[in-house]
Amino acid sequence: QGKHGPTGVVVYEESAARPATDSLVLQRELRRAIADDQLLLQYQPKLHLSTGQVSCVEALVRWQHPERGLLPPIDFLPVAERSELIEPLTRWVLRQALTDCARWAEAGRPWSVAVNVSARNLATLEFVEVVRETLAATAVPPERLYLEITETAVAFDAGQVREVVERLAEIGISVSVDDFGVGYTGLSQLRAMSIREIKIDRAFIANLEESQQDRAIVASVIDLAHGLGCTVTAEGVETQQVADWLADAGCDHGQGYLWLRPSPWQEIVPAGEASGTA
Ligand code: C2E
Ligand code: CA
Ligand code: CA
Ligand code: CA
Repeated sequence: QGKHGPTGVVVYEESAARPATDSLVLQRELRRAIADDQLLLQYQPKLHLSTGQVSCVEALVRWQHPERGLLPPIDFLPVAERSELIEPLTRWVLRQALTDCARWAEAGRPWSVAVNVSARNLATLEFVEVVRETLAATAVPPERLYLEITETAVAFDAGQVREVVERLAEIGISVSVDDFGVGYTGLSQLRAMSIREIKIDRAFIANLEESQQDRAIVASVIDLAHGLGCTVTAEGVETQQVADWLADAGCDHGQGYLWLRPSPWQEIVPAGEASGTA
């Protein structure tokens, strides 16, 4: 909510109305945050809807800001994406996520890990080298890494997005199309790329129970994705009814508050296993 300043003008304190100078301050603070390890990752599992087993765990970045507390990505990612800071940020996330992935494997849980990448990360082939080197440094096999790229990044073919995606697929990692349904990617565009997984955006999952239209959309995305040889994950699953409907519709994986909110890496345990054993 806004607050009235001395001139009677409503002054907004939060990110949406942040003036340009503040975003420069934020850029400077964020650069330091990356260098000083103020970022942290929380993880949220993707489960096989038919067996309840964890298949993969998604890394979600947060910023432990010294004055403002724990900030969600919406408060700083847009600034990172508009500047070159998204590059060191993504490198940091990749390194940390693969390090944690190696620790789960040591603890007998050889799960895959999913890292979100921005369109700007995919603009140059140098990113392929960054991924290759980080996999080598953490000794995680490429098959354990998923990179989630948004549907809009796929459509944004300004740089070399398509070529970068092909090269990533060649080194054995899986590419996942995130937030599917909110952009305008034709499935035909996806057909031309090596995509392993499609994640249906939460916007289509949230009202499945009430909306016949959303059910129709989700059912057809599942069928089309399978027709293209991709697996399907539904994000934002909050109720058992929705999980059951998705399983019946043939959706492969689910992710959402029903099972687990994003949590620190030690707290990620397989469904059905008592917490505290990790
Ligand atoms: P996303 O990739 O679509 O991630 C899912 C978002 O939905 C996460 O928000 C997650 O906490 C939230 N969520 C998961 N399950 C539920 C549910 O059942 N109900 C509801 N209401 N929400 C749920 P979060 O963590 O705030 O992340 C927001 C977005 O920020 C992500 O959306 C992703 O696009 C981006 N992001 C997060 N981490 C990174 C990162 O390391 N790099 C990049 N480039 N983007 C990131
Ligand atoms: Ca994601
Ligand atoms: Ca998503
Ligand atoms: Ca989403």
